[in-house]
Amino acid sequence: MPFARGLGILFAALLLAGLFVSADSAAPRIAYHSDGDFTRIVLDAPNSASFTAVSSGKTLNIRLEPFGVAQQNGTGDTPQVAAWQLEGAGGHGLMTVQTRLELKAGMYKVFNLPAGDGLPNRVVVDIGANLEPVASAAPVKPVAQTVSSRTPQKPRLTVVLDPGHGGIDPGAVGFVTEKVTTLDVSLKVRAILTAAGVTVKMTRSGDYAWQGVGGCDKRCDLDKRADMGSTDRNAFVSIHVNSTIGNKAQGIETYLFGRSPDGETLSQAERENGGGSVGKAITAQARGIASSLLGDQLAQLNASFSRRLANGIQVNLISQSKAVNLGVKQAEFWVIRKPRIPAVLVEIGFTTHPVEGRNLGTQAYKQKIALGIARGILAFLRQ
Ligand SMILES: [Zn+2]
Repeated sequence: MPFARGLGILFAALLLAGLFVSADSAAPRIAYHSDGDFTRIVLDAPNSASFTAVSSGKTLNIRLEPFGVAQQNGTGDTPQVAAWQLEGAGGHGLMTVQTRLELKAGMYKVFNLPAGDGLPNRVVVDIGANLEPVASAAPVKPVAQTVSSRTPQKPRLTVVLDPGHGGIDPGAVGFVTEKVTTLDVSLKVRAILTAAGVTVKMTRSGDYAWQGVGGCDKRCDLDKRADMGSTDRNAFVSIHVNSTIGNKAQGIETYLFGRSPDGETLSQAERENGGGSVGKAITAQARGIASSLLGDQLAQLNASFSRRLANGIQVNLISQSKAVNLGVKQAEFWVIRKPRIPAVLVEIGFTTHPVEGRNLGTQAYKQKIALGIARGILAFLRQ
């Protein structure tokens, strides 16, 4: 699948490990992340700051100006970075990174993430033996807050649950009606998460939707839901019920945002994006966004966290429900396209399957599904 190539080195190791560390609380905030294959250092910088980067042997010097800052030191303790230091003098700043690699072209990258979404301007330094070139020097989306990088004071964790469809849009109809089942399961998930101390925000908690109200169409409805996945929240989980022509298909699958690997998956994204010409148009636009994100390393980093969330949910769902495991996939679902926080879409089963569809109508089975989703989310939040 093309997306995998774009994600390149990031994915494999990120499934296993990721670590954000904040340096002391003095400004500017510095966070670094290492996944085994590369190390990323992110520092807040004034909006007007520009930088130049020069490497010599195992040392990378980055000069920033204007930049006023007290000296900070950090031990890298990653496979790529031994230590770093940031000092300020005469209105400019100098970040010195001692790496464990003899730096050559392509082994480090310094780029700017413009301020936005309430986040400051940031300078990002990537160091690794095999960094892929950034596809474009165009401004990259400001983003990718992660659970651990945002929790210096251990705030309450907040999860957004999105019961698919609602109101005038029933979603898939078979042995159960999708909008009813997704709401019921979401409310059960909310109960479990709330009991575990997690704050839950619902995109809807009754049989209504934005769609059809005050001229809000399908895209507008999906946008309103997606907007609830703001950066002060830790995860976004959209819950759906699958359907197919015929009654053979069954099983559970969890999606993150990305380009569909095949036509069948693309068709499913079109259905969930509103179906018909609306769904096709929204999906085509989402596909373009998915392509542009391939060159955005921070979006990819967030995608790797989404994949981790998806894996946790999928594993726990299968373990609880004993349903057929259709795996973790990616597709152009509009509602999870905004890569600000880890976001996934779960298809909890097929309403069209004579056994699974009926199961989805029972409280006992829905409770198992809810438990699987909630445990997956909790496992992710505790990582
Ligand atoms: Zn749906």
